[in-house]
Amino acid sequence: MDTARLNLNELSPEELHTELSRFNLPGFRVRQIEKWLREGASFDEMTDLPLQLRSELKDYYSDGTLKIINKLTSKIDGTAKYLLDLGDGNIIECVLMKYKYGYSACVSTQAGCKMGCTFCASAKAGFGRDLTAAEIAGEIKVMSRDAGVNIGHVVMMGVGEPLDNYDNVVAFMRSAHDPEGLNISYRKMSLSTCGLIPGIEKLMKEDLPVTLSVSLHSPFQEERARMMPVAKKYSLDKLLEICKTFSLETGRRVTYEYAMISGVNDTDGHAAELVRLLGGTLCHINLIPVNTVSGTGYRRADRERIDRFRGLLEKGGLAATVRRAMGRDIEAACGQLRRKAMEDKSGQN
Ligand code: SF4
Repeated sequence: MDTARLNLNELSPEELHTELSRFNLPGFRVRQIEKWLREGASFDEMTDLPLQLRSELKDYYSDGTLKIINKLTSKIDGTAKYLLDLGDGNIIECVLMKYKYGYSACVSTQAGCKMGCTFCASAKAGFGRDLTAAEIAGEIKVMSRDAGVNIGHVVMMGVGEPLDNYDNVVAFMRSAHDPEGLNISYRKMSLSTCGLIPGIEKLMKEDLPVTLSVSLHSPFQEERARMMPVAKKYSLDKLLEICKTFSLETGRRVTYEYAMISGVNDTDGHAAELVRLLGGTLCHINLIPVNTVSGTGYRRADRERIDRFRGLLEKGGLAATVRRAMGRDIEAACGQLRRKAMEDKSGQN
């Protein structure tokens, strides 16, 4: 993407009309351009526009399309992982998953992440910049066009901490919900945070009935702070307090993500503490059999252990499920492909 030119995808409908007025186009041409932009087409793909107009548009603007630099497709379940070029040296990744209920996109909200979770490949590859709302939407558009499918669900669980890029992420959710845009219902959007309390407080006040998903990973403050440095600033008790308020104020349950790491956070004691902390609250626990990330020393808990853990949570009255591992053969864990690409790139420099 040419970052020096104005990206037409970043404009509101009113701003777009004002910009295009310089070409004195009839209304139907403006509507054609709007439609193509909504679909994430490049200027070259806007085949029903005269060549001359396409060339003029290119002279003035960027079409904001993200370039696919690599794509891996799982032979096991069809999950496709995309490595995308933002056009300014930054690389992100996103994933397209097929479920019984339809297609779901897992999108990145930042090029890299500052949060430093010890089990995460994104943290190890460094931080580039925040993504704009149009770039986040662009991930969905590029996957939808490439695979020829309609994407009805989105999880903000890729590279980056969404609440560390609050304004752009909220603008993305509002635009993605627009029936004239991606037309994704708020209830089919899920925002995942490592626990930035001020962001959760702000989100609670927005009129956005999306699912809040919180990466918990340990019910013990010290252990959690070792795995997730953010917990040193925003403690576990304060985090759980705001999550309880969130579900009471919004009437929606909070999902807690819990990566099952062998010998680290998968003991009966951990399950008992989760029951003590979360019992009686409106929540759901999503146990994640982690993908092994090289350089972290963490290993996936075995299936028997995960099933026992879930059984203990359920016995304690908590709703818990084990997330189906998608794309196990294509390194689908957060940030692994990007990390490798960044390492390859720095190796070339
Ligand atoms: S797990 Fe999420 S918040 Fe933590 S470092 Fe990785 S991308 Fe950032």
